[in-house]
Amino acid sequence: MSLITIENYIDGELQKPLSGNYLDNYEPATGQVYGLIPESGEGDLEQAVEAAQAAFADWSNTPAEQRAKTMNRLADLIERDQDQLAKAEAIDNGKPIALAKQVDIYRAAANLRFFAQAITQFSSESHAMENLAINYTLRDPLGVVACISPWNLPLYLFTWKIAPALAAGNTVIAKPSEVTPMTAYLFSKLCIEAGLPPGVLNVLHGTGPAIGGPLTTHEQVKAISFTGGSSTGTAIKQATATQHKKLSLELGGKNPTLVFADCDFEPTVKAVARAAFANQGQICLCGSRILIEASIYDRFTAALVTEVEQLKTGDPLDQDTQFGALVSAAHRDKVLSYIDLAQKEGGTLLTGGQTFHPGGRCAEGYFVQPTIIAGLDNQCRTNQEEIFGPVCTVQSFASDAEAVALANDSDYGLASSIWSQDVSRCHRVAKQLQVGIVWVNCWLLRDLRTPFGGMKASGSGREGGLEALRFFTEAKNVCIQFGG
Ligand code: NAD
Repeated sequence: MSLITIENYIDGELQKPLSGNYLDNYEPATGQVYGLIPESGEGDLEQAVEAAQAAFADWSNTPAEQRAKTMNRLADLIERDQDQLAKAEAIDNGKPIALAKQVDIYRAAANLRFFAQAITQFSSESHAMENLAINYTLRDPLGVVACISPWNLPLYLFTWKIAPALAAGNTVIAKPSEVTPMTAYLFSKLCIEAGLPPGVLNVLHGTGPAIGGPLTTHEQVKAISFTGGSSTGTAIKQATATQHKKLSLELGGKNPTLVFADCDFEPTVKAVARAAFANQGQICLCGSRILIEASIYDRFTAALVTEVEQLKTGDPLDQDTQFGALVSAAHRDKVLSYIDLAQKEGGTLLTGGQTFHPGGRCAEGYFVQPTIIAGLDNQCRTNQEEIFGPVCTVQSFASDAEAVALANDSDYGLASSIWSQDVSRCHRVAKQLQVGIVWVNCWLLRDLRTPFGGMKASGSGREGGLEALRFFTEAKNVCIQFGG
């Protein structure tokens, strides 16, 4: 099999890395190398910065309708190529192809369309001081900005960042994860086809240390929109502490799922299983700490185990697979080490806990069973540290107050879900949870206008809707005193 060699996208052209060096790209379902990824460095970065700076004057002065048109053209091309892109995502990441098509690729096009439209509706504020003066706010694009994305929802999160940045008139240097670079590469080709002017978007491939770090600290980069792990977020904060850049950091999570005795039982079991194990538990929003009211704990836990054991595991390229491979051998080993730790901490495996192999071409893939663990208190490492894989725990609570206390007993504060038919309780508990996103009787239902992000170690700043357009623009107040 010939290897697919990925290229950088700089100044409108696909380019090899100046170093001539490449990293191996693995297919998680087979454990085999199937491609090569540019190992970019500071020389490639300088070229990208130069191109982005040169493109900024024209792009920022292009009317918003025109920028929107180009972005909608890109969305059209993603939709045209949705089958090819979904397959590429499933091969590169290990996620089920049906999920890739319905969620990742569908939402990548939706991100571009949403921000294309949003920028044409964007307005700024004005504040009148009665008979004295009027203030109005100008919102100008920042210049060259960096967008750095993780491996779990590759094209989805890549476009979630670049779409508002481009819509607002910035030029972008984007760095997709070196673990899942393929769809960003295919997207680069679509940019050329869509007629995106050279330099407006540049895509550099490679590792965090070699290219991510230098990109964040480059003096011409005015803002960093980053999604990834909390420790990487801290490293970026520290590295840029003296540089006065705008930072938006979307980081890790350890999200609580609160199941009350009055929930709508059967649909809740299904939804809680999905919230824990979608994308093999590799979504920052997955509910990995399942808190269940004591009076239904045994019944709910038993039903959850049954539900999870029915998930159709298998080759990510099979259309009916619901649960595929983990993203890398290193990540599989990390997840297995947490399953081991959980047992050492006194946890009991209710289901899962082992690797498995669907056979055929997947005999050497990185598959770990969906795993549910009981018998651990909330303070143990298993319940405090982000595993980011197909592992969740179940705990019981006796009162609303205890449920809230357990939910908030975490360094993280990204998302949560509440399952109850008591609307007053839902409002009350939602208000008390220390998280950026609360879903009530649903999970992962997304309206792109809403603020998205977390508190505590889950990040700072918010993405989505106007929040993203505000992040990617600089506000300037103009105060005009009335004469006479
Ligand atoms: P990661 O932090 O290892 O890497 C994320 C990106 O940052 C990659 O592109 C990587 O190459 C780059 N990077 C690494 N070191 C860097 C550095 N020093 N400077 C600049 N860039 C650097 O994260 P990951 O393993 O790819 O992704 C998993 C993590 O992402 C999990 O913690 C998950 O919760 C989090 N995540 C958060 C959200 C959210 O919206 N809050 C969404 C998805 C994933």
